[in-house]
Amino acid sequence: MRVAIGGYLVAANSFATQRIPLERFRRAMLRDEAVMRLAGGDGALGGFAQAARRLGWEVVPLRFVFPGLAGKIPDDAHEWAKQELLDAIRAAAPLDGVFLQMHGTAASDRLDDCEGDLLAAVRNLVGPQTPVIVSLDGHANVTHLMVDQATMLIGVKTNPHYDFAETGRLAARVMAGIRDRSLTPVSAWAQPPMAPALQKLYIAPGWPMDHLMRLVRIESQRDSRILDISLLGGFFVSDRRETGISVTVTTNGEPALARDIAERIKEACWQKRHAFHTDMVAVEDAVREAIAADEGPIVLGDLADSGGAGTPGDGTALLAELLRQDARGAVIGNIADPEAVQQALAAGVGRQVELAVGGKTDRFHGDPVTIRGRVRTLHDGVFTASTRFNAGTVHRGPTAVIDCGGLEVILTSRPVLVFEPNHFRSLGIEPTERKILVCKAEMQHWAGFAGLARKVIDVDTPGLATQIPSRLPFRRIRRPVFPLDDI
Ligand SMILES: [Zn+2]
Repeated sequence: MRVAIGGYLVAANSFATQRIPLERFRRAMLRDEAVMRLAGGDGALGGFAQAARRLGWEVVPLRFVFPGLAGKIPDDAHEWAKQELLDAIRAAAPLDGVFLQMHGTAASDRLDDCEGDLLAAVRNLVGPQTPVIVSLDGHANVTHLMVDQATMLIGVKTNPHYDFAETGRLAARVMAGIRDRSLTPVSAWAQPPMAPALQKLYIAPGWPMDHLMRLVRIESQRDSRILDISLLGGFFVSDRRETGISVTVTTNGEPALARDIAERIKEACWQKRHAFHTDMVAVEDAVREAIAADEGPIVLGDLADSGGAGTPGDGTALLAELLRQDARGAVIGNIADPEAVQQALAAGVGRQVELAVGGKTDRFHGDPVTIRGRVRTLHDGVFTASTRFNAGTVHRGPTAVIDCGGLEVILTSRPVLVFEPNHFRSLGIEPTERKILVCKAEMQHWAGFAGLARKVIDVDTPGLATQIPSRLPFRRIRRPVFPLDDI
């Protein structure tokens, strides 16, 4: 048995103004040994490759691209990545199976559903008989085309996600079953007219998605013919017809059973729709509440400029308001501003600086804010995440900490998800000794600071990852859809 592994881990915020050019795809493309190294880890590829080797299979590397997150990708970048993968499959033939990891939210200028397009091309190349199994992120916007072209789609069951390896292990088990003819995966896919805000997709007790996942677990265990149920929350800032929550049920040769369960879970989602309503505090009120708190740290979530949703990471709304209200013991987790970092580097540690920071990429994330302070530390910006989700090494690029008296501002060269203690500790800032921490995330900060923050306040900041969908210029999503339409 000869199986191939690869990945197209491309995410796009359809509304974001920044682009990931073809050149970045070229630099990010992993081949051969680099793909095998990735498969040595505990991600989706790792789970699959390790299971495959235990079964005595030969594992062949294809391509794996993870170019970062921004706005829609250029058509030529998608086409190039697709041809790279197809060339690799041709070179690796004959193959008995293909396992691919995808994010499930890529959109190019011409295509809203890059994954569907890619899977159709792969299917065309390998033929109808070869299993093509896909691991999906919990934010995937699953489409008809993806379901039709893949043999099986397997999504993670956690958010923030840490169970990618399990999707790979299940894919290997199913491929083995197809091989010995004990399994014939048959999938049904369903979705309610709903595109929940990213804020409410946290899977933890008390959150609506947790309630639905419990139902999924009960359904999964009811019948041994069910191979997998993937309930995925979607990524509502990626605008495609099928954007939003969906469920894909795969059974062993039982289409009616798959359809029945998919419909039941779809209905349960719909009944729960109002629990997904966003829940945020105005900027001024959030800062006032944080300042008035007896004890910190109070985590303020800058959701609309989340480093996980393709925005520039240079939003200044909370910085401006913290200055205006003269907050003490506050840390701005991140303003991505390479120009300001260079100015801090040129000044050097210990020097006083006056910098106009943030708000420089587009007109949606506030204006530049002038800060005056001392360059306290300078860093390469590399650190290892302490959480089991979003694990691994984070590269922020050259990074500076500016001490402005009551307020510390972390300036990075790249936008990043700011969601956990090591982001601060790696820069010599102990988060438990601060009153207010500003994070840029859509909900990962709830998990990253669980047990550590006195309170988490999600703030209604301006930005292109806003959790209020009516503020975004959707063009492709099916209508009516909740909460965009009052249905
Ligand atoms: Zn995700």
